[in-house]
Parts: sequence; C-alpha cells; structure tokens
Amino acid sequence: MSDGPTYGFDTLQIHAGARPDPATGARQTPIYQSTAYVFRDADHAAALFNLQEVGYIYSRLTNPTVAVLQERLATLEGGVGAVCCSSGHAAQIMALFPLMSPGKNVVASTRLYGGTVTQFSQTIKRFGWSAKFVDFDDLDALRDAIDDDTRAVFCESVANPGGYVTDIRAVADVSDAAGIPLIVDNTSATPYLCQPIAHGATLVVHSTTKYLTGNGTVTGGCIVDSGQFDWSASDKFPSLSAPEPAYHGLKFHETFGNLAFTFHGIAIGLRDLGMTMNPQAAHYTLMGVETLSLRMQRHVENAQKVAAWLEADPRVDYVTYAGLPSSPYAERAKRCYPKGTGGLFTVALKGGYDACVKLVDSLEIFSHVANLGDTRSLVIHSASTTHRQLTAEQQQAAGAGPNVVRISIGIEDADDLIRDLDQALTKAGG
Ligand SMILES: *Cc1c(COP(=O)(O)O)cnc(C)c1O
Repeated sequence: MSDGPTYGFDTLQIHAGARPDPATGARQTPIYQSTAYVFRDADHAAALFNLQEVGYIYSRLTNPTVAVLQERLATLEGGVGAVCCSSGHAAQIMALFPLMSPGKNVVASTRLYGGTVTQFSQTIKRFGWSAKFVDFDDLDALRDAIDDDTRAVFCESVANPGGYVTDIRAVADVSDAAGIPLIVDNTSATPYLCQPIAHGATLVVHSTTKYLTGNGTVTGGCIVDSGQFDWSASDKFPSLSAPEPAYHGLKFHETFGNLAFTFHGIAIGLRDLGMTMNPQAAHYTLMGVETLSLRMQRHVENAQKVAAWLEADPRVDYVTYAGLPSSPYAERAKRCYPKGTGGLFTVALKGGYDACVKLVDSLEIFSHVANLGDTRSLVIHSASTTHRQLTAEQQQAAGAGPNVVRISIGIEDADDLIRDLDQALTKAGG
C-alpha cells in the first residue's frame, strides 16, 4: 500500500513500510537473515558505495527487514526518515554523533531515565562532549544554559520513571530561537500518545526495547528525523553542512536535503560506530508495533485505575502519575497528551526504603526487573538498581528517591494488579 497521510494510526502501525515480499509473495515481512547482498555488476556496486543509488550492500548499514521497521517508525512519528540501531542508548549516541565534536555540549532535562543521566554526565566526556542538566519547567534557565558550544537540547516526552510530562512545544520554541535541534526521547509515550515532531522536535529517539516491541524480547533503538532542521543555517553542524572528510568530502545536507541526517546516520553512524539492529530484532519489534495502539490504550486505562487506587491507600505516601487529577502536571497532561500519559509511574511508601524492598519481594504478578513497557506488569526499586549510580540529589531530581518504587503497568486485568499490590503492601507492613 502507499503510505499517505490519509491513513489512520491503526492502519499505518500494521502497513507502513511493508508490502508483500516481491520475491515470494510472503504476506508477513520476511526476516532477511543475510549479511551481504549481491551486486548486479561492478557499476551497480560503485553507484551504491557512492550513495548515487539506494540499495543493500552489507547489513551493518542496511537490511530489508530493518528497513521496513525504519519506514514504519518514521511514518508513525511523522518524520521523513529513521535509522534503527542496537539499543535505546545506541540511538542517543547516534543522534548526538553528527551534531557534536570535542568541546561541544548538550543541554538536557534533569528528568531522564537513570541510564541516560549516567551516559550524559559521565561516559560522553570520553568523546570530549559534555552535558548541562536543567529543569525544563524553567524556560529562562533553559535559555541561559544554551551557549555558543551547545549543539543539542534533549528531553523525554513522558519522562521515566514517571509522573513528569514535558511541554515539548514550549521547549522547542526556546531551542528554535537559539537555532539548536531539539531531541526528544519518546520511549515512554510512544508515537500513539505523543508525536514530538508535531510539537516542534527536530529528532525523536526511542528505546524500541520498551513499548514499541512491547513483549520484552529484544533490545533496539531508533532515531527519527523530522527533516525540518536547516543544518546549513549556521556553521555549527559542519558534519552535515560542510564537506565531510569521512565520506570523501560529501556535503550531506546539499546532497540529500531533508534526508541528510538519515543518510549520515547510515553512511557514517552505522558504518563507523557499528551499533546495528539485527533483522531478528526488527522482526520482533515489527510484530509489537502492529498492536501498539491497542496496548497503549490498555496500559493507560490500567495505569489510571491502579494509580488512583494506590493514591487512596493509607499505606501509600504519594503517587506520581501525570494522569491523576492531583498531579501538578494534570493540566499540561490533558493539553499535550490528550490520549493519556502512559503506563509508568512511581509510588512512595510511608514505610520508606525497607517497605519498598519488601513490596518488591512480595508481589506475585508483577516481576522485579530492570525493564518497562512490557505486556506484563513490572516493578523496580530505582534507588537500589537503575538509579544506583546517581547521587542522592540526582535520584531526587529524577523522582527516584529511596522511598519510591517505579511501576510499569501491563495489560493484565486491572483488578488482579490491584489485589496483588494490596497483599504485597500488607506484607510490606506499611
Ligand atoms: C530504556 C530506556 C532507554 C535506554 O534504552 P535501551 O534500549 O535499554 O538501551 C532510554 N530512554 C528511556 C526513556 C528508556 O526507558
């Protein structure tokens, strides 16, 4: 089928990017388990390597199964192109890589997945990059943090570990005025609940490991390009606007127009960093994406019920879920995320650290794992696990203090989840 804006989300999540296999007629997208692709002749090979013709060379760069997922995610996010890679963290490095160079910085929200805080505050220093963390509700602070060396602004739409939602439009207005691309991690919201590009984002990154795959089988990541940023408007992005020595002097923006970032991601990012998604992973994620809207509706419905029940329980101190009327972000959530704010939230127990650990050990349906966005309900005590490497201040800023448990609500029966939490809270002795 041709993917037009005339089709709705539910149709596109099943059909975008795919068609019956031209070789066999197979209706489902085959897993092209091949490392390399035969060139028609030497001229064809040369044209492919020169990026004069688009086609398959080697699966570190492109693979037909992965390509279907790329086109599907680009379509669902309203972007012009996408590059898939091996994990969400790989996607973040791949998104920054064309923009950054030694001495440059990214201005990032304080409310981020714990692993991203560590990646940005520690690991990227090895590349000579740095990050400044700012409260993105304070737009003046954001404006002040952007300096001459800033090359990206980074936030999450619905932030992990839950309870905070970003006003992407307000942030995009600041980054636009500064001429800096805005990168939004849309992992927890998914394009069903939020399309950051429609709110002004330049690039969208995903951990496809989570809701997009949805069944806890494979890790993966994706970068979707809006195609709307003018890389040549300043001299800040020479890898895209000027002759790129790593590709015999090719000017990506001049040559590929609004697909410059996507081509760069494949021709340089995947070629030289090698963080490639394998076709098996793409297959599992394609299977997941087919039911994304149905699952997200149930995740939201269940999370609303469970969060409201927990909030009313005397053993509970507070619940941070942007979908609750008591949330300080309730108005913003309704305005910017009208279909709901996902399945992720945190709950603080009056019994503190000890009660959290006992709760996690006493739950029967919920699994204690370092994952989220699965069909099954998951729980984790962030302070002793995912956010362990953070300072006490960073933990608090990220909403992951010692008295807090993060819950990823699955698509089981909400009543069963509530009964399970009830018995575990009793055992936790709050
Ligand atoms: C899990 C996660 C990541 C990292 O993704 P991986 O696939 O685990 O590398 C990044 N951002 C958010 C919001 C996440 O939930």
